[in-house]
Amino acid sequence: MPATSPDGDRQSPAPQVGEGQHADAGTSIRTAILPPHRQLMAALLAASALVPLSQPAEAQEKPVPEYGNVALKAFVRQPSPESPAPAPVSDATELHQIDLAVKAEEERQERIERKKAERRAAKAKAEAKREAEREAAERARKRAAARRAAAKPDFVRPASGRLTSGFGARWGTTHTGIDIANDIGTPIVAVADGTVIEAGPASGFGLWVKVRHDDGTVTVYGHMNRITAWTGQRVRAGQRIATIGNRGYSTGPHLHFEVWVGGSTKVDPRGWLAARGVSV
Ligand SMILES: [Zn+2]
Repeated sequence: MPATSPDGDRQSPAPQVGEGQHADAGTSIRTAILPPHRQLMAALLAASALVPLSQPAEAQEKPVPEYGNVALKAFVRQPSPESPAPAPVSDATELHQIDLAVKAEEERQERIERKKAERRAAKAKAEAKREAEREAAERARKRAAARRAAAKPDFVRPASGRLTSGFGARWGTTHTGIDIANDIGTPIVAVADGTVIEAGPASGFGLWVKVRHDDGTVTVYGHMNRITAWTGQRVRAGQRIATIGNRGYSTGPHLHFEVWVGGSTKVDPRGWLAARGVSV
């Protein structure tokens, strides 16, 4: 039995593996009967055959055998702790970039909102300014109107010109008004605010206009050339109602003017106007 001799053993399995033959089940059985140090050597040799650079291509493609150093196999099969690292690093970078992008977008939105708020504020300010200007203009208009109203007299002369006849006895009769002579076409105005109650032909007057004022007094204007007011018209003191003429019983272009207090009592127009601050 040469198998019992250590020398004989030395010649059989280990050299076979070392010659380049890759391990197989037969080798595993043979190494199992080797002494421990020879078993280790055989395992290392078998492991070295896992990726033998000198092996032909078909041999490299063979699956890793299920024998040999367990620790070595575990080392080979276990995923390297460094290998998955790039992925988490890449994810973190991407997340960081997303965070930056989100932050940038948020800041952009904030800028937009600030701009919008600024524009709204500017618009409101401009509107407030326009409103203030409108109010100021309205106040100025009201002040001007108030000044005009204050300056506007309640009573005025009925026409410019020369007084040619007064109220009273004249030529054996009673002259119930005053005469103011002026050129034909000279404006005749209402002496106070009132309403036109007659405007048209009248016996002796040629044409006449009668205005009833707010206190019930009626003023009468005669001999006019042309009437520019109409019955029912509301007139203001100083507003033109006719022009001087020479119609009716008249000896020359003039205005015949009467004042009827209470609508019927004829009084001296000069005294009545003088009592209201108007001299003729
Ligand atoms: Zn007269």
